[in-house]
Amino acid sequence: MLGSQAIAYAIRPSARSRHLRIWASPEAGFVVTVPLWRQDTASVERFLRRHQRWILRQAQWLARVSARIPKRWPYGPTLPYRGEEHAVVLERSERGAAVRRVPERTLLVRLERPGIEAARRLLKRWYLGEAGSRLTERLAVLGEAAGVGWRRVSVRDQLRRWGSCSATGCLSFNYRLVMAPPEVMDYVIVHELAHRRVLNHSERFWEIVAARCPGYREARDWLRSYGPSLVL
Ligand SMILES: [Zn+2]
Repeated sequence: MLGSQAIAYAIRPSARSRHLRIWASPEAGFVVTVPLWRQDTASVERFLRRHQRWILRQAQWLARVSARIPKRWPYGPTLPYRGEEHAVVLERSERGAAVRRVPERTLLVRLERPGIEAARRLLKRWYLGEAGSRLTERLAVLGEAAGVGWRRVSVRDQLRRWGSCSATGCLSFNYRLVMAPPEVMDYVIVHELAHRRVLNHSERFWEIVAARCPGYREARDWLRSYGPSLVL
C-alpha cells in the first residue's frame, strides 16, 4: 500500500544486479529487480516507500497506457507489425520451423512442436530479420535524402533506446521499431541521421529533424505512449 493505493508488483531475483531497481511496463506492470543477497521483504518495502512519488506517477501512466493497448500475444491473439495488429496462428509442421506473414494480417508460426516459448524465440528471430531489412531499406533512402553517410549500422534488442549514433558514425537501431507504424520508424532514422550533423539535442538539431520529418512530434509522442508496449 502506498498512501491509499494498492500497488501490485513482481519481484525478479537477479544474480547480476547489485542494487534494488524498479521499472514499469504495460505488459509486466511494476517489476522490482532484487540482488540475490537482499531478498528480504522489509528492505524491498522500504525501497518502494522511498520511491513512492515516482511509483504513483507511473501507476497513473500505466493505467492510461494499458487502457489503449490491446491484449497482446501470448495473452491475447495479436502482435503488432508495421503499426498493424496481426493475428498469431501457431501451426504444427513436419518440415522445419518458420514464420510467414500471410493475408489478412496474420503471422503464421510453424513449429514441429508448437509451444509458447519456441514460438516466441522463432518470432523474435523473424522480427529481427524483418527489422534488419526494413531499417536498411529506409536508411538508404533517408540517408541519401539527408546527404549524410555512416560507418556501420546494427539492429539490436534494446529495452529503452530506439536508436543511437556515435561520434564515429556508427548507427544502431532497436529491432522493435519494425512493430511501430512506418512513419515512426522513419522518424527514428531521421533523428539518428540528424546526429551525423549535430550530436546533441539543441534547437539546431530539431530544426534539421523537422525539415526532414515534419510530423516528428507526433512520432515522438507515439513512441512515448506506445513504445513500451512493443514487446514480444
Ligand atoms: Zn538523439
